[in-house]
Amino acid sequence: MDSRKLHIAILSSPGLGHLIPDLVLGNRLATHRDVKVTILVITTSSSPAESQILKAPFGPKLVDILEIPPVDISHLIDANTKVVTQLRIMVREALPGVRSTIAGMEHRPDVFIGDLFCTEAFPIAIEFGMPKYVYVPSTAWFTALITYSPLLHEEVVGEYVDQTEPLKIPGCKPIRPEDVVDSMLDRNDQQYREYIRQGTEFTLGDGILINTWEDLEPISLEGLRKNKYLHAVVKSPVYPIGPLRRVNEPAGQKSDLIKWLDMQPSKSVIFVSFGSAGTLSAQQITELAWGLELSKQRFIWVVRSPSKNGADESFFTSGSSLDGEPDYLPEGFLTRTEKTGLVIQLWAQQMEILSHPAIGGFLSHCGWNSILESITSSVPMIAWPLYSEQRLNATMLAEEIGVAVRPKVLPTKKVVDREEIGKMVRTVMEYKEGKVMRDKVKQLKISAENALNMGGSSYNTMCNFLKDAEMRLRSLKSASQK
Ligand code: UDP
Repeated sequence: MDSRKLHIAILSSPGLGHLIPDLVLGNRLATHRDVKVTILVITTSSSPAESQILKAPFGPKLVDILEIPPVDISHLIDANTKVVTQLRIMVREALPGVRSTIAGMEHRPDVFIGDLFCTEAFPIAIEFGMPKYVYVPSTAWFTALITYSPLLHEEVVGEYVDQTEPLKIPGCKPIRPEDVVDSMLDRNDQQYREYIRQGTEFTLGDGILINTWEDLEPISLEGLRKNKYLHAVVKSPVYPIGPLRRVNEPAGQKSDLIKWLDMQPSKSVIFVSFGSAGTLSAQQITELAWGLELSKQRFIWVVRSPSKNGADESFFTSGSSLDGEPDYLPEGFLTRTEKTGLVIQLWAQQMEILSHPAIGGFLSHCGWNSILESITSSVPMIAWPLYSEQRLNATMLAEEIGVAVRPKVLPTKKVVDREEIGKMVRTVMEYKEGKVMRDKVKQLKISAENALNMGGSSYNTMCNFLKDAEMRLRSLKSASQK
C-alpha cells in the first residue's frame, strides 16, 4: 500500500444499522478519490448477520477492516439498560482498544471519522494529530434535533412527549412531541443523559458528515448552516454526502428467493421488514399476517419471534427465529399463502430484494438505511416506525415528501389492526395514491443520482470534505513541528 495516500479511519459502533453505512461510506471514500480507508469495528460478535458481513463485506474489497478487541460490559448494565446507554458504554469501554489498535498500525491514519455513537473517541484523534469528524447515517433533521437538544434540555420543562406545542428548533422544521427520538422519551433515564452528551459531542469535531442530500432536506440543512442560534451550536461545517447505500451486487448463484421473485409480475410483491433489530408483539404479528392475507397481494416478510421488552430488543442479537408455525401466526397462514408469499426468518438480502423489478412496495420500520435503499430502488413505502429516530423519518416520508402511507396509530403504542394493514398494502400496491407515491419516489431517485454524480451537490461536498480534512491535517502537522 502506498504510504503517501491519505489514510482515513472510520470508527464503527456496534449494530448493523451503523456498520453497514460505515462500510458504505468507506467504499465511497475509496472510490471517490484514491484514499486508504480502514474501518475500526467495535463489534458485539453476537449477531450472525454481523459476523457474516465482517467476514465478507459487500462489494469489491476497497477498505481494510480491523476489529477492536471485544469488551465485556455485562457488569455495567442490567436488564433495564436502554440501547443508547449500552452503545455508549460499549464504545467507552472499547476506547483503550481503539487507542492501542491505532498506535499499533504501521501506516497510521491521518483523518478520523467516528459514527454517531463514537464521538467519545475524539480525544484519541486529537492525541494522534488527526482531524476528527462525526458521521451521521441519518437525516439533517435528526442532526438538527440532537445538536439542539442540549438547549432544549434547558428550554423545555417536563417530558417532551407531554408538550402541547411542537418543539421549536430555530431555522428548522418543528418537531411534534410524539415524534421525538427514543432517548428523549424519559428525561430521568441514563439514556437521555447520554443522548444530551452525544449532542454536545457532535459539535466538538471539525465537521459533521450526514447521509442526506441538498435537494431532499434544504430546510434542515440551511437551518444547521445558517441559523444564528443553531450556528452558535454547530460551528463546524456540515457535509451532506448522501444518499450512500449498498450497491446491489448479487452473489454468483441466484438464491431460491430471487428465483421466486423472478417468477412474479412486475411490481406485484410487497417486502415487509423491520430492519436489523425491529421486533413486534405477538398480537401485532398476528394482525400483520391477517392484514397481508386480506390485502391479497404477494409478499416477502422477514419475521423474528415476538418482543417482550420493546421494539428494539433484538438490537444486539438480531432476535430469534420462529419455531414451526407458532401460535401467533394465524392457523394455516403459511399453507394458505404458500403460493403468494414467502416468510423468511430473521434476515434477508434486503438490497437485492428491493432492487428486484417484482417489488412494488416496502413496509418498513423506517431505519434510515432502509429508507435510502427503498428510495434509490424507486419503491414507495408503508412507514411503520418502531424505535430510535424512526418516527421523525416516518413523518418526513409520509407528510413531507409523500412517498409513504402510515398507520393512524403509532405502532409502538397501539396495535395496527388487520383491516388497516390490508388497506395500506393495497393503497401502495394498487390504488391511485400508490401510483402518485411511485412517481414521486422515482423523481427522488433521480435527484439522489444527480447529487452523487460528478459535479452533483453530494459529490462536490465530498470533495470539499476531503480538502478540509487535508488542510486541517497540514495545519496540525505544522503546529506539532513548531
Ligand atoms: N438489512 C438486511 N436484511 C435484513 C434486515 C436489514 O440486509 O433482513 C439491512 C438493511 O438493508 C439496512 C440495514 O440492515 O442496510 C438496517 O439499517 P436501518 O437503518 O434500515 O435500520 P436499523 O437496523 O439500524 O434499525
